[in-house]
Amino acid sequence: MDKQKSLISPVVYPGSFDPLTFGHIDIIKRAKKLFGKVIVAVGSPSSKKFLFSVDERVKIIKNFFKNEKNIEVEILNGLLVDFVKKKRAKAIIRGIRAVSDFEYEFQMAWMNRKLHPEVEVIFLLPSEKYAYLSSSLVKEIAFLKGNLKGLVPDFIIKKIRKKIG
Ligand code: ADP
Repeated sequence: MDKQKSLISPVVYPGSFDPLTFGHIDIIKRAKKLFGKVIVAVGSPSSKKFLFSVDERVKIIKNFFKNEKNIEVEILNGLLVDFVKKKRAKAIIRGIRAVSDFEYEFQMAWMNRKLHPEVEVIFLLPSEKYAYLSSSLVKEIAFLKGNLKGLVPDFIIKKIRKKIG
C-alpha cells in the first residue's frame, strides 16, 4: 500500500494542560491518527493561575508520550499564529466537549483566522467518556481530596498530590 503523507501535517494542539487529562490525551491520539504529526504547544495565558509551571507541564506530557513517535511538546510563548507559522503547520487542533466550549472556541478561531488567514482550525470530539472532563475540574477535585483515578494518568495523580500536599 502507498504510504501517503497527510497534506495537513504537522498540526499544532495548543492549550494550558494544567494538568494533562485523559481528554487531552484522547484528542492528541485522534489528531496523530488523522494528521501524522502533532506538536503540543503548552501555553500559560496571563488570565490563568497554574498548579504546574510550564516546564513541569511540558515534562509531564513528554513523559506520557515518551514511547510515541511524531508527538512533539514545546512551550508556547507569544502568539499562537506566530508559533504555527514558525513550525510551518497547516492547522490548529482544538477539542470540543460541549456546546458551552463552542462560543469561546469560535471567537478564538475567527481571530486566529484574521491574524493568519491560511491556517485552518480543526475541532475534534473526544470519546464521550471524557466529555465532562477538564483540567480545572481535576484541580478542584484534587483540592477537595477527591478521587482522580481515571481522570488523569496515575503518575500525574502522584504529582498533583505532591503539589497540593
Ligand atoms: P486552554 O486554556 O487553551 O483552553 P486547556 O488545556 O484547558 O487549554 O485545553 C486545551 C484544548 O483541549 C481546548 O481546545 C479544550 O477545549 C480541549 N480539551 C480540554 N479538555 C478536553 C476534553 N476532556 N475533551 C476534549 N477536549 C478537551
